[in-house]
Amino acid sequence: MSERPHEIAEETIAFLRHHLLDPTPQNYTLCFAAHSGAHPALHKALAAISDDGIRVTQKDADELFAQFLTALPPGLTNDEPDFARALRHQALKITDAVNDAAVVAGAFNLELSSDYDRLKTDPANVATILATMLDRSRKAENELAAAMAELQTLRTELEAAREDSNRDAVTNLHNRRALLAHLAELAEAKRDHVLAICDVDHFKSVNDTYGHVVGDRVLKSIGNALSTACAPHVVGRWGGEEFLVILSDTELSDAKRIIEEAREHVAGTRYKLRATDEPIGTITFSAGLVCVNDTDNGAQEAIIRADELLYRAKSEGRNRSIAA
Ligand code: GH3
Ligand code: MG
Ligand code: MG
Repeated sequence: MSERPHEIAEETIAFLRHHLLDPTPQNYTLCFAAHSGAHPALHKALAAISDDGIRVTQKDADELFAQFLTALPPGLTNDEPDFARALRHQALKITDAVNDAAVVAGAFNLELSSDYDRLKTDPANVATILATMLDRSRKAENELAAAMAELQTLRTELEAAREDSNRDAVTNLHNRRALLAHLAELAEAKRDHVLAICDVDHFKSVNDTYGHVVGDRVLKSIGNALSTACAPHVVGRWGGEEFLVILSDTELSDAKRIIEEAREHVAGTRYKLRATDEPIGTITFSAGLVCVNDTDNGAQEAIIRADELLYRAKSEGRNRSIAA
């Protein structure tokens, strides 16, 4: 590896820009490796494509990456997440609708100019020319109204797509991305809060006995129960069968009481199969709670601490919460 990483980084960015390659982690890694001197074979292969001033395409970059480098972790590749693709499509549709409106306005102006010229050269036919102008004006107005309606629909869809990108599809709660954003906001505002990680006990056996569809319904139901019991605090799905509750401006003892109420409510609920009313049995969760204040090293460290308490709750018999 060279001793001038900043220069290599700048060369890499310039290279990506020059070749109109998106600065994705995968493209950046590829070009950085090629420019750093660490990969002479890759450098040669990239130079063979680009040296005659030929643009390196995304397809070339993908092929070189597959040939010379190993895969990046999921989420760091060039793959576009579903919500990002949806947003990009909406943006393209909006551009189309705005262009359509601009074309209508432009055409209308052109027609008005020609009507104006006719008025000058043929003043005797004012009434006919005005009628044509009025007709055109109404048509343009209708077309613009249609473009505006289209824009309004797209705006609604865009808002829905943005909302979807922050929601978990199974429970309809905040997803991990939304939770992390909320934690970042709290850290930025230096607002003390309590984090509670709640993990369903022996959830694997629910799936094993009743299948994933029932498992999903149980997750949804526990999510609802937590949301109701912890309102107005933020409840989201952290992943798998784990929920994260973020209780801002709350003392640890109050947070513990809230989580305990939720835990007792879930443990006391008689879950049944929807189709047959057959009881599923008791479902419980365990939780670890920690305080986060601005002297802490951020959310990641707090979550590790909460996880440790959660696993203590598990090892001490489950269906309990531990706060520290
Ligand atoms: P413990 O009390 O130690 O937490 O035991 P557990 O069985 O809950 O934990 P384990 O980590 O062994 O299993 C978690 C299970 O959660 C395994 C996985 O199949 C299931 N799971 C994760 N995400 C989902 C999901 O979205 N839907 C369903 N139905 N199951 C899920
Ligand atoms: Mg778990
Ligand atoms: Mg579990």
